[in-house]
Amino acid sequence: MKYCSKCGTKLIMKKNWIDGLVPYCPRCQQFRFIKFSSAISAIIFNPQKDKVLLLKQYGNPSSATLIQTKMLSRR
Ligand SMILES: [Zn+2]
Repeated sequence: MKYCSKCGTKLIMKKNWIDGLVPYCPRCQQFRFIKFSSAISAIIFNPQKDKVLLLKQYGNPSSATLIQTKMLSRR
């Protein structure tokens, strides 16, 4: 990230007391942290660990899906 996402001013690196050097907008006088999407994945087993939880997809009752993905956006 080289420019401020709010005003377009070139960012400088400034020391943040928690995160160390962080991109900083001298015009907005705010740190500009890199935005990233978060995700998790998990497989759910029964206590004996010989079965996994499958999901049935809406509109397709004959199939079961082991993995379901969903992307979340901040905007
Ligand atoms: Zn700015």
